[in-house]
Amino acid sequence: MTHLNSAGHLQRRLAGRCGVGRPHGPEAGLTLIETLIVVGIIGIIIAIVIPAIARSRAATQRKTCILNLRQIDAAKEQFAIEKRKLQGAIVRASDISPYMRGNQMPVCKGGGIYSIQRIGRDPRCSLWRKGHSLQDPNSIGEPEPE
Ligand SMILES: [Zn+2]
Repeated sequence: MTHLNSAGHLQRRLAGRCGVGRPHGPEAGLTLIETLIVVGIIGIIIAIVIPAIARSRAATQRKTCILNLRQIDAAKEQFAIEKRKLQGAIVRASDISPYMRGNQMPVCKGGGIYSIQRIGRDPRCSLWRKGHSLQDPNSIGEPEPE
């Protein structure tokens, strides 16, 4: 679209960019408008895409956290049955980690910290206000029927 036929033409264009002289003719104006339109479109696309990515990332972290909490809950139950623990018994991470995948406590991808809680109570994530909770009405699906 832009033709730089001669060195003189190029010099004039560079001078225009430096503010020494203004570019002449419809070509220079069109290029500026085109540039602004492209920048505007890119800005709009970024404004739409970035919040959507952030939302989907937060939703994935929340769902993963709920699955982790279910795993912790199941491990607590198994520990309580095997070691004959009663309701209200204190549980440490080292007590239930053998019942976990890979023998270790899962980690909240959102940066939350898990609180195992006593036997008979739901484990909690420190980000429970953001839906990282077994009690969240928006949590994924219903717990499996027993
Ligand atoms: Zn969490």
